[in-house]
Amino acid sequence: MESLSLLTLYIPTDQKSNFLQLLGLLLIYALSAHLLKKRKTITPNRLSTQVQEHNVGIISETTSSSTSNTTQSMDSSINCESVNYHMTRLCNYKCKFCFHTAKSSFVLPLVEAKLGLAKLKEAGMKKINFSGGEPFTVKYLGELVAYCKTELQLESVTIVSNGSLIKEEWFQKYGDFLDIIAISCDSFVESTLETIGRGTSGSAHIRKLSNIAEWCKKYNVMFKINTVVNSANYLEDMNKYIKELNPCRWKVFQCLLIDGENAGEEALRDASTMVVTSEQFDQFISRHAENNPVPENNEDMRNSYLILDEQMRFLKNTNGRKEPTKSILDVGVQVALNDAGFDEKAFRRRGGKYKWSKTIDPFDY
Ligand code: SF4
Repeated sequence: MESLSLLTLYIPTDQKSNFLQLLGLLLIYALSAHLLKKRKTITPNRLSTQVQEHNVGIISETTSSSTSNTTQSMDSSINCESVNYHMTRLCNYKCKFCFHTAKSSFVLPLVEAKLGLAKLKEAGMKKINFSGGEPFTVKYLGELVAYCKTELQLESVTIVSNGSLIKEEWFQKYGDFLDIIAISCDSFVESTLETIGRGTSGSAHIRKLSNIAEWCKKYNVMFKINTVVNSANYLEDMNKYIKELNPCRWKVFQCLLIDGENAGEEALRDASTMVVTSEQFDQFISRHAENNPVPENNEDMRNSYLILDEQMRFLKNTNGRKEPTKSILDVGVQVALNDAGFDEKAFRRRGGKYKWSKTIDPFDY
């Protein structure tokens, strides 16, 4: 200010007021420019603070949701390490005893199926089995198999299929990501297969079964066979064929009646003539002891599976019917699980946990 006063001494008196006006204008301009610059530098910081606050919000939400999940997990002792996802009810076969019939043609969009599977993984799932209906009617099955193995890194990814729609190219493309494929076969007698409804040609079904067994060897996928003991096959001796096919596991079920599926007025099938007694089932198992069948009678099967339907709702086997929970996509896994009626002891008793991975033995832990 002192230098400014000195400067004014050298300005003629008649021009001093003009000079002071100009100086005032310059000061106002400088002050405005300074404020503007300050505002520009502050704005990104504010934005960044907002982003941080937003992120903190997300983190808190995530933390609170994962805390609540953890709380739910701690509250709930329900174990969901092995899940069966019946992704479609559609099938190209018409087995008389089918207990997951085509009552709906609904299939989830791929992105939602992936989301549900990721939720299950987060809740503790280690093994997923894709089933149906016929899972090979779903175009994105291979992509989902690869997703579960590579992105979710599940210990075990398996499929249960009737085999009829499988081509070698599928194994070439997706075999690496698949641990086990189970093919349903109830007989090696063509006419018996046709009576049961396993395809329209029994011979084609048996041929396909042995093709798939070969592809499994070639592409390093474990091969499994599922058999339903029923009134058409309970006297059969399958030992020779099972020995030749040499499955890693041979699962043998007693034909089961489920109200609304293969029994009762609303059902699409009537399996009442297909059931066998416990004694007939046990005789079948004893006859095949040399091939180590893994038996599951009606009691073993009820509520010892975690079954998800096409909308990702758990199916609770209550009073001989399958009652759906809410979808895990709507209420989350734990809430749906609490209502699923799953009997973990029965799951373990029936040998639900076994060598289910090509690379990891779950009993090695
Ligand atoms: S192959 Fe399976 S899903 Fe298809 S009709 Fe037979 S039992 Fe049902």
